[in-house]
Amino acid sequence: MIDKEMYDKIVNEIPSSVLLVAVSKTKPNADIQSFYDIGHRDFGENRVQELTDKYESLPKDIHWHMIGHLQTNKVKYIAPFVHLIHGVDSLKLLKEINKQGRKNQRVIDCLLQFHIAEEESKFGFDVDEYNHALAEIKTLENISVKGVMGMATYTDNKNQIRKEFKSLKKLSEIVRGDFPDAIETSMGMSGDYNIAIEEGSSMIRLGSILFGSR
Ligand SMILES: *Cc1c(COP(=O)(O)O)cnc(C)c1O
Repeated sequence: MIDKEMYDKIVNEIPSSVLLVAVSKTKPNADIQSFYDIGHRDFGENRVQELTDKYESLPKDIHWHMIGHLQTNKVKYIAPFVHLIHGVDSLKLLKEINKQGRKNQRVIDCLLQFHIAEEESKFGFDVDEYNHALAEIKTLENISVKGVMGMATYTDNKNQIRKEFKSLKKLSEIVRGDFPDAIETSMGMSGDYNIAIEEGSSMIRLGSILFGSR
């Protein structure tokens, strides 16, 4: 069940500088079309197969955001059309995106995912890995580093969430010093987007609050 009232409420509440990415993973095309029909264009998916299926059947002016963990061998399927890849978490993956960007004669926009959560399971660069990769990232001509992305620990502890978002915002400033176009900070989901915006998010990724639980 999609919640258009909640959508309107959120769109009216958040600063106009914050992009709302509607996370439509596992949800049917009809739900996406409903948000499309009221003017929404940015949708996020976390699985390559589902993303390409939806790209093929839905309007072509949708901006598709790849938000999940991306395997190197699957980059080729989304390279022709993806709008922004949020979860780029290794140099190996960046090199493959660059290669597929070149094949498709385009520059693919990427966000570097940083590991900010206390939880072990989350993917992402840490500062050392980033610094080691930096010189090589700068040589890649068919990717553009647009900023950073991160996920806070799944917890009720708001102080911890805030602390983790603050650390991502700091990292975003470092990355911006290296890449002038890196102005975006993708942070905030249904449960923590208010804190994320307070801490300087420029893109929130909302799923269940808009589309119902999965
Ligand atoms: C599923 C997902 C979201 C949306 O989560 P909700 O809690 O449903 O808003 C955001 N970001 C990523 C990376 C996700 O995988």
